Amino acid sequence: MLNENSIKGLKTSLRGRVIEAGDKDYDEARKVYNGMIHKRPRLLAYCADVADVIHSVKFAGDNDVLLAIRGGGHNAGGLGICDDGLVIDLSRIKYTRIDPTARTVTVGGGCTWGDVDHATHVFGLATPGGILSTTGVGGLTLGGGIGHLTRKYALTIDNLLSANVVLADGKFVKATADENPDLFWALCGGGGNFGVVTSFTFTLHPVDTVYGGPMLYGLNEATDVMKWYRDLIPSAPDDLNGFFAFLTVPPAPPFPEHLHMKKMCGVVWAYAGPQTKAEEIFKPIRAFKKAALDFVGPLPYPALQSMFDAVYPPGLQWYWKADFVNKLSDEAIAQDIIFGEKLPTMHSTMHMYPINGAAARVGRTDTAWNYRDAIWAKVMVGVDPDPANNEKTIAWARSYYDALHPYSAGGAYVNFMMADEGEERVKATYGDNYERLVAIKKKYDPDNLFRVNQNIKPTRE
Ligand SMILES: Cc1cc2nc3c(=O)[nH]c(=O)nc-3n(C[C@H](O)[C@H](O)[C@H](O)COP(=O)(O)OP(=O)(O)OC[C@H]3O[C@@H](n4cnc5c(N)ncnc54)[C@H](O)[C@@H]3O)c2cc1C
Repeated sequence: MLNENSIKGLKTSLRGRVIEAGDKDYDEARKVYNGMIHKRPRLLAYCADVADVIHSVKFAGDNDVLLAIRGGGHNAGGLGICDDGLVIDLSRIKYTRIDPTARTVTVGGGCTWGDVDHATHVFGLATPGGILSTTGVGGLTLGGGIGHLTRKYALTIDNLLSANVVLADGKFVKATADENPDLFWALCGGGGNFGVVTSFTFTLHPVDTVYGGPMLYGLNEATDVMKWYRDLIPSAPDDLNGFFAFLTVPPAPPFPEHLHMKKMCGVVWAYAGPQTKAEEIFKPIRAFKKAALDFVGPLPYPALQSMFDAVYPPGLQWYWKADFVNKLSDEAIAQDIIFGEKLPTMHSTMHMYPINGAAARVGRTDTAWNYRDAIWAKVMVGVDPDPANNEKTIAWARSYYDALHPYSAGGAYVNFMMADEGEERVKATYGDNYERLVAIKKKYDPDNLFRVNQNIKPTRE
């Protein structure tokens, strides 16, 4: 049990600051990206280095305290924070070390994707991350990592070379394909179940200017657009990525006034091939139908990566449901259109991210990520700044999911799940990799110290 002496001991052993309930900045410190989450931890340890992480992990184990790990704090389910326990906050472990010759980057466990893109872009290099610059590298990577480069360079985990990890017993280890390979395998999709990752090393690719941005159409054309998109993505060249979306046009520049607040559908494109070929690649796309808005063109990769940051600042109310999708039947599309027309608020949206191409050429048991044969990771997102609209956004996301889940592949991307989706859903997501994950969890975290996550229990029921 926690007492003042043990808390004092933690404080003196850390370089970083420990914030307690009652401190003047406590309420600020306990905020996470999703404004719907209101957890009240007993302590937040702002770890300054690996030693701080080791002390904090041992403190949680020794005192039997619930432990949460906060990387970027972006998890919609609020899995970076907990009630009553200790939060290891990694935001001070923020550094990037690039080796442009070897084409690798090592990043601290508290980096965001904006930090990584900033460090690598100056060398004309990038590694696949997510579509917002504010998302944490930690949670996104450990869950898999989907973004604009997925079809060309696969998932973020497919570009992970090594991770430095503080284990449940406080030991510090390196995990690579050759060193602690079982741990490395589990980290590649198994989430924060196995330890605190204090640094990640990724391989880099030549990505500088990309040809991308949104191309939007009226909802009256949504059936045609979805069918065309469904047929195009499975055989598109790897260089071309494009996620489908239902959205409402924000009432602000650079969007033309006549489209403000209009519900639309479209594709956010990212072509990462030779830029001299980009116009040619987009000829048939533009010939398919004249888009009501075509913002697709050459832009620096980090500009695409942060294009939606302003629309989604921290503190909005988020609730989402997700599925993997293999086939998009006409019947399913008809259902999608019904819910696209009913987007409940301006920020609410539906995204279908392609996960075929390079990501599908990795074997389903090569990493913990099991759905290598799915074509899309789909997420139905209810968002609004006002908590008064939560009932409406949650009801929409749930009914959308209920209607479309029967057409899905079964599981869902762990990073697109809320906190309370249940063990069966986690099992469905890991499929035949689940048993191996349980065995590795048993080896590295037999007491389930790391359980504020999409939990893989160390024992079978
Ligand atoms: C607006 C928005 C956009 C998103 N876009 C994308 C996207 O484009 N692509 C995509 O793949 N996902 C995306 N996501 C999902 C995102 O990957 C997850 O929310 C992810 O959990 C965020 O990571 P984080 O470190 O910021 O989260 P946190 O809330 O800090 O942590 C989430 C989980 O990861 C664990 N964790 C975090 N860091 C570490 C670490 N260093 N060591 C061990 N465990 C750790 C935590 O224990 C927790 O269980 C998005 C989410 C949001 C809200």
